[in-house]
Amino acid sequence: MSRLLVIGCGGVAQVAIQKCCQNSEFFTELCIASRTKSKCDELAKKLEGKTATAVTTAKVDADNVEEVKALINSYKPDLVLNVALPYQDLTIMDACLACGVHYVDTANYEPEDTDDPEWRKIYEKRCEELGFSAYFDYSWQWAYDQKFKDAGLTALLGTGFDPGVTSVFTAYAQKHYFDEIHTIDILDCNGGDHGYPFATNFNPEVNLREVSAPGSYWENGHWVEVPAMSIKREYDFPEVGQKDMYLLHHEEIEALAKNIPGVKRIRFFMTFGQSYLTHMKCLENVGMLSTTPVDFNGQKIVPIQFLKALLPDPASLGPRTVGKTNIGCIFTGIKDGKEKTIAIYNVCDHQECYKEVGSQAISYTTGVPAMIGTALVAAGQWNTRGTLTTDEFDPDPFMDMLNKFGLPWVVDENPATVE
Ligand code: NDP
Repeated sequence: MSRLLVIGCGGVAQVAIQKCCQNSEFFTELCIASRTKSKCDELAKKLEGKTATAVTTAKVDADNVEEVKALINSYKPDLVLNVALPYQDLTIMDACLACGVHYVDTANYEPEDTDDPEWRKIYEKRCEELGFSAYFDYSWQWAYDQKFKDAGLTALLGTGFDPGVTSVFTAYAQKHYFDEIHTIDILDCNGGDHGYPFATNFNPEVNLREVSAPGSYWENGHWVEVPAMSIKREYDFPEVGQKDMYLLHHEEIEALAKNIPGVKRIRFFMTFGQSYLTHMKCLENVGMLSTTPVDFNGQKIVPIQFLKALLPDPASLGPRTVGKTNIGCIFTGIKDGKEKTIAIYNVCDHQECYKEVGSQAISYTTGVPAMIGTALVAAGQWNTRGTLTTDEFDPDPFMDMLNKFGLPWVVDENPATVE
């Protein structure tokens, strides 16, 4: 029995909400709130007669703490699931703290305006001290840890697929397969084809910022940063086939480096086709990925936001995307004094997702774990207080729910490794 407020109604939110409504014995009441209320109303209409969950909608600007507080105080949820954008993480966390409710999200904080001088000062210091230059990092949200502990609340950070499930896979490997994990390679393969020369599978602004940034990995206690797309490997993904993949910085590396004792190296690779890379490089070269506003015909325009308006809405890719994703981790380490290697992964079919919830697999593989993390915190099964990532809880109930709610996983005890 739980009353949930979901903020955001984009690609990921639409799946998370439908999955909560499939779990209506637990999520008895749900309010969908977002900036554009008509999208929430449309989804609520689609759910009519299909779920026992009582669904309502509201309009909220989550950049405004007072507005979020007012909504929480009137709806009185047990928990807020933030599936808006990473820009809203801190305002929603502030509102949850002020109102005494748990908080869950799928991506760590980054500012919308990376030219903000106050933010930049802290960012540049962090780049120097930690050695990676991605715009996002956990420090902003980890700084809330004591406040959430003192309030007796949980903030579950990053419960999508990556981050999210990849960290649950790590906790599961640690619990059941290893005495000590030495290396973790996280491999994110999207073998899907949407038929467009260029489109992003989730929010274009967040996606392109992430992918065009320098890559970095964790090795022997520190970060190693490399130019964007400069480390390339090939991998033969089960059920997808041979793909090129590139090393990226990714947020779960930061949490796993802190939380997995004895880990020596953590890397993250994502597959990209040549068409995507060529388009991205060209857009970057002409300045279209910039977050700095430019004057255009007397108006201020942020190039990457304008680009977002031109690109296909990720939520509209569902009917066109065919093929499968394969996302998971390869672990090496020691068990009972012997070296051991395993992989844990999930394969998800774009068209199967579309048939079930009307979305492609990237939204699906993020929305399902968002629902699971939310359910575990709301049920009190994951009840450590503070700001925590998914690797810091018992992985078993999460792994069971992945099987039950559409993301079954495989353990391969003899996987190919990455050089
Ligand atoms: P979309 O752009 O499709 O949706 C974002 C939603 O948030 C929209 O409904 C938007 O409203 C709403 N929103 C934006 N700003 C505000 C605001 N100020 N107040 C209220 N609502 C707002 O994004 P996605 O669904 O693709 O991504 C959602 C989140 O999931 C992102 O944080 C993304 O980084 C994360 N993600 C995580 C992954 C993982 O594996 N961990 C993978 C993929 C995504 P409007 O309709 O008005 O624009």
